[in-house]
Amino acid sequence: MTFRGHAIEVPPAAGPADARRHLFNNATMDRYRQALAAGIDRVATRIARADRPFSGISPSLLAPEISAIDLEHPLHDPADALDELEDVYLRDAVYFHHPRYLAHLNCPVVIPALLGEAVLTAVNSSLDTWDQSAGGTLIERRLIEWTAGRAGFGPQADGVFTSGGTQSNLQALLLAREEAIGYSARHDLLPRLRVLASEAGHFSVQKAAKLLGLGPDAVITVETGADRRMRPAALARELARCHHEGLLVMAVVATAGTTDFGTIDPLPEIADLCARAGTWLHVDAAYGCGLLVSRTRRHLLDGIERADSVTVDFHKSFFQPVSSSALLVRDGAVLRHATYHADYLNPARTAGRGLPNQVDKSIQTTRRFDALKLWLTLRVMGPDAIGELFDEVVERTSRAWDLLAADARFEVVAKSQLSTVVFRYLPPAGPGRELADDANLYAREALAASGAAVVAGTKVDGRHYLKFTLLNPETTLDDIAHVVELIAGHASRYVSGHASLETCGRA
Ligand SMILES: *Cc1c(COP(=O)(O)O)cnc(C)c1O
Repeated sequence: MTFRGHAIEVPPAAGPADARRHLFNNATMDRYRQALAAGIDRVATRIARADRPFSGISPSLLAPEISAIDLEHPLHDPADALDELEDVYLRDAVYFHHPRYLAHLNCPVVIPALLGEAVLTAVNSSLDTWDQSAGGTLIERRLIEWTAGRAGFGPQADGVFTSGGTQSNLQALLLAREEAIGYSARHDLLPRLRVLASEAGHFSVQKAAKLLGLGPDAVITVETGADRRMRPAALARELARCHHEGLLVMAVVATAGTTDFGTIDPLPEIADLCARAGTWLHVDAAYGCGLLVSRTRRHLLDGIERADSVTVDFHKSFFQPVSSSALLVRDGAVLRHATYHADYLNPARTAGRGLPNQVDKSIQTTRRFDALKLWLTLRVMGPDAIGELFDEVVERTSRAWDLLAADARFEVVAKSQLSTVVFRYLPPAGPGRELADDANLYAREALAASGAAVVAGTKVDGRHYLKFTLLNPETTLDDIAHVVELIAGHASRYVSGHASLETCGRA
């Protein structure tokens, strides 16, 4: 074939008819059923066979396999693509359902939510406007209302689903900033705005401050006590200091479930101080939100109903697949700070017509119908069942803490109110003691490289610690005891000079 005298090479096969076989529509339902069933089968086979949470592969071994794939030349057959996927993804993925995955805030997921995921991606509703989602919009609204009710908010409450706690925190601080600025001159006020959060608060608060145009010193960290919870006296002192220095505290961020320690800031005392200072209170319950459905531990969140805004991550403690998160606000009117009218989408002329356009409340435009996963979870299992699963991991964590506290080889940090245990291997007194930091770093890497278990690490007062985050009700105390022995073995081998950081998992 030629075009204006130049020869053009026409690729074989893949003409429009071939491409259209892959479109999802009424003519392709057999393909859809087959492809998804095959995909589900691969995952199910993997899960059934997984004897470890991780293969232990290193990035340097896996990267070349992925680089070698020629993206210009498709395989055409989904079965072939799945075969390839076994090698580049499924074989070496980190499996959160495995009882010895004890690292980060990743939960095993519930089947009704997976069903929701399959449905929502196929229908592909976009929750920005009513005319792109219809019922999805109302289902999301109903779930926001339900969650806000669980938080103890009144009928004025509102909110919106988000991609995660990071986005929820960003939007909360956006609303807080706009409320703080009010009718003042923005440029005068911006440099004087401050956010107070505890030392154990989440780093997304710092990122949000940066995105919101605040200065590098805008987030002031408030001291925590030995229990790793914000000290109300320290908060009172910082509020007074800011006031004295002419700084405007636009928000206090209390954390209901710190990522590192699973501790909950004293919400009632913090709410009192915020009320007295007239300051926006944001409660970051990304982790602790599971307590909203606990029949035995809901009281740990008492005071949350006094927050102006709340972050909840259903993808952490409601056993939902990523993404599923929401921002709740006590007074729905504040969401107007996220509203923008676009002629093509949600024109101002229709604003009075009461069309439920969720884009008016969100900082996203095109947005997944993540709410469907929680909806089907509630409709199949109900809230108590979710609460029971979360209660079980919290209970087991307490036993795990006891186990480590009673073990002379280890040192544990403040007991979590949720499901983390922070601890470190402490070499016996003597010359090996100063190797404690490296021994713990080594034990974590060696464990991950073996794939036998995955644990997390963090720093406490400048020292390296290890961390279990338990979100799997299938993790038994025996699993935990077994992993503890593996850690002790790796760490003591390091201390005795039989292993080094260089030789571990760094192929
Ligand atoms: C995980 C977490 C976040 C961030 O949430 P993502 O869903 O990961 O964006 C924020 N705050 C706390 C306390 C968290 O644990």
